[in-house]
Amino acid sequence: MCGVAAWIGGDDAALRVYEMLLGLQHRGQEAAGIAYLGNGNSIVVVKGCGTVTTAINLSNISSKTLLAIGHVRYSTSGSYGGTLAQPVTGPKKFVVVAFNGNIVNYYELGLEFFGREYGWDAHLLVDLIEQLYLDHGNLLDAIKEASKVLVGAYSLVAFTARGEFVAARDPKGVRPLAYHLSDKVVAIASETAALEEQGLYWKEMGNGMAIYCPTPNPRECYVDHLGWRGDPRPCVFEYIYFLRPDSFFEGVEAHRARVKMGFELAKIDDVEADIVAPVPDSGRSAAIGYSAGRGILLDEVIYLNRYVGRVFISPPSERNVKLSRKFGVVKSSVKGRRIVVVDDSIVRGITAKKITSLLRRAEARAVHYRSASPPVRYPCFFGIDFPSRRELVAYGRTVEEIKSVIGADTLLYNTVKALKKCVGRPTCMGCFTSEYAYPINLSKAEKLFSKRM
Ligand code: SF4
Repeated sequence: MCGVAAWIGGDDAALRVYEMLLGLQHRGQEAAGIAYLGNGNSIVVVKGCGTVTTAINLSNISSKTLLAIGHVRYSTSGSYGGTLAQPVTGPKKFVVVAFNGNIVNYYELGLEFFGREYGWDAHLLVDLIEQLYLDHGNLLDAIKEASKVLVGAYSLVAFTARGEFVAARDPKGVRPLAYHLSDKVVAIASETAALEEQGLYWKEMGNGMAIYCPTPNPRECYVDHLGWRGDPRPCVFEYIYFLRPDSFFEGVEAHRARVKMGFELAKIDDVEADIVAPVPDSGRSAAIGYSAGRGILLDEVIYLNRYVGRVFISPPSERNVKLSRKFGVVKSSVKGRRIVVVDDSIVRGITAKKITSLLRRAEARAVHYRSASPPVRYPCFFGIDFPSRRELVAYGRTVEEIKSVIGADTLLYNTVKALKKCVGRPTCMGCFTSEYAYPINLSKAEKLFSKRM
C-alpha cells in the first residue's frame, strides 16, 4: 500500500506534490520521494527514508516546477525499509514512475522482456514502460502496451524527460486514484481527501482510465483509457482500514462504509457489556456504528500514541517495538467493566493480543473482541503486505482457537455477506474468500512475495 500524487500547472508543482503527500502519509511511512521536470529536459528525483518531512528536504526542491510526481512507500514488494524509495527512473533516465499496488507477474515479465530476475516490481515496471516508450515514442501508448502484459494492481503516475505525463489505473481498478482536471491545473492523488485539502474539486478515475498530457500544459491534457477494462474490483480492505475516513472510493465514503460495518456487527451480537471501546484510529468508525446499533455507550478507553505511526504498515522488524509503545488504557474507565473492543480487522492478531492484555492488566471484568471485517484467511498480492497464509492468525484456526490466541473472553467477526452489503458494490474479496481481482496461482505468488527481506 502506498500513496501517489502529481501536479501539472502553475510554477510550484513540486511543492504542491509535497503538500499532497502529507495528506497521504497514512498510506506509507517507510520512504517518500518527489520527481520533477528540471531544466533542459531532465528528471530530478529527491527521495529518502522515513516520513515525508524526514525523507524530503524542501531546500533540495526547485520552487519553480511545472510538473511533479510523488510517492509515499509502504513496502509490499522488494526489501523493507527506505532503500527502495519511489519515484523510480528507467535505466536511460527518460521515464520516471511512481505507483501504488503490486505487479504479480513481475518475475516472469523480467525474464521474458529483459532476460533477468527482478527483485522489485517497481524496477520491472519502469524498465518495461521506458523500453516501450523508446519503441513507441509516446508515453500513453507505452503504458497501454504495458497494460496488455501486466497482471496486478497499479495506480500510477509517470512522466518523461520531454514533459509528457500519464496517470493510469489498472483495468480492474484495485487501488484508488482521483483527479482534478481544469485549464489551469491537473492534480492526481491516491485519495480524494488529498485533493480536497488543496481546495480542488475532484473526480475518481475509473478502472482502466488514463489521463494524458502531451506537454506540461493543463489545457492539453485529456482523459483516455488503457487497452482493456475488466469489471471493477476495488480492494475491500481500503474501505476497512486504509483509506482516510474522509476519502471516497468508488463513490463510497470510507467512514460511512465503516459505520455500517459496525452496525451490521451489532445486529448479530447480544453479548452483555458496559462500554464499547474503539481500537483507535481505524476501529473508531465501526465502533460508532456498533455502539449505536447496540445502544451501549462508546468510551475512548484506549489511548493511541500517534507519534509511533501505523504499526500494521511497518516492516516486521519494527512492529513489536512500535506496538509496545503505541497503546495505553484509561484504567479508571476500564476497571470492573465489561468491554466490547471494536477493531477494523484482525490480520496477524498481534494488535488484538496486545489490547486484550492491556485491558486485563487494567482489571477489565470481561474483554469481548469484535472485528468489523470477516476472518482474514488468505494472503494479499495486490498492494497490502501479508503475502503468506502462515502469518495470518485466522489461517487454519477456528474462531474459538483465535479467541484463545488473542486472550479474549469472546470473539465475533462480521460476515462476508454483511461486508458486501456495507460497501454495496463488487470488490476484490481475495483475503477473505480467495476470490481475487485477477486470477493468480496462490502458492506460486506466496513463494515469490514471501521472499522479501
Ligand atoms: S486480497 Fe484483500 S487486501 Fe488484497 S486487494 Fe484483495 S481485498 Fe484488498
